[in-house]
Amino acid sequence: MLTVKAYAATDATGPLVSTTVERRDLGPHDVLIDIKFAGICHSDIHTVKGDWGPAQYPLTPGHEIAGIVTEVGSEVSRHSVGDRVGVGCMVNSCRECVNCKKGEEQYCLKGNTGTYGAEDRDGTITQGGYSTHVVVTEDFVVSIPEGIELDVAAPLLCAGITTYSPLHHWGAGPGKKVAVVGLGGLGHMGVKIAHAMGAEVTVLSQSLKKQEDGLRLGADHYYATSDENTFKELAGSFDLIINTVSAKIDISAYLGLLSLDGAMVNVGAPAEPLPVNAFSLIAGRRSFAGSMIGGIKETQEMLDFCAEHKLGAEIEVISADQINEAYERVLASDVRYRFVIDTATL
Ligand code: NAP
Ligand code: ZN
Ligand code: ZN
Repeated sequence: MLTVKAYAATDATGPLVSTTVERRDLGPHDVLIDIKFAGICHSDIHTVKGDWGPAQYPLTPGHEIAGIVTEVGSEVSRHSVGDRVGVGCMVNSCRECVNCKKGEEQYCLKGNTGTYGAEDRDGTITQGGYSTHVVVTEDFVVSIPEGIELDVAAPLLCAGITTYSPLHHWGAGPGKKVAVVGLGGLGHMGVKIAHAMGAEVTVLSQSLKKQEDGLRLGADHYYATSDENTFKELAGSFDLIINTVSAKIDISAYLGLLSLDGAMVNVGAPAEPLPVNAFSLIAGRRSFAGSMIGGIKETQEMLDFCAEHKLGAEIEVISADQINEAYERVLASDVRYRFVIDTATL
């Protein structure tokens, strides 16, 4: 057992505090990762605050992990000591069900094992990446290609794959009009990736405050959703809308922006239900769908795609003692565009 430094929430309302977590001894297929950077995802905040149901404390969040392999188990074949690697939102799955067999482990019929706050196969509760080291089974560790620095790579492990997967699945590319709702951690990666795929990209943000950034990141158009004219002007215009908003929004109003057969895909995961007016779907044969992260194979594909297109996240690197302040800023939509913890400061 290895005792390593970490930051953890001890309840739903208090600040995260400095602590330690235990990492298991290396099994034959495990790798030990020296974590260099860990992104702060809005899901960490939802989980800590109990938005999705009660959490088990102490809870060390973090599922955007980038680091270096420092030790490998006796039978590890996929990674070697010194490799630059990443770990995202899951660290295991059943590997036997039809979805796992398809490489869609995130949709494991027995439930994937979350990187933190989940029951691991040995009965312990997983603890995440706001920590100096982690032990993960080799199949759930991906390679970070040369050409992407570890700090800007970390957010790709969740924000990157969560936007890449639906963009890819719903065919974003040349000739397709894609809108991204919310320019936060997920949204800014959605804009970069959709642009790199060749789509015409529009940002739908609450205000025009971040317009200059949005256009620089690759958007062709930028609209404020606080302006009612936006919904009139853009009615019926998008093939695909990716909703990354962490709060409840009026889904039916956005469905009105889809063209015939258009799809709106929800990746945002607010605590509240999202009611939909049937007529906003019926009129235009539209779809309202959801998508959760991506499989391991697809995560590697996404990293290779990002390396090829020279894409990384726009980040603000923080020290451990700034985590609580960063949470407040994310909740206030004051993030440009991902906070990444330098784990050397833990
Ligand atoms: P984030 O950085 O906080 O970005 C969310 C953005 O949504 C904000 O920057 C803001 O953009 C917009 N927004 C926030 N509150 C809003 C409101 N009340 N009305 C309208 N717009 C609002 O969060 P994130 O890390 O990107 O995560 C976004 C959501 O995706 C979270 O719910 C998270 O749990 C979920 N998530 C899901 C998956 C999945 O697998 N499906 C994976 C990761 C995260 P503007 O300022 O531009 O309006
Ligand atoms: Zn996440
Ligand atoms: Zn499975």
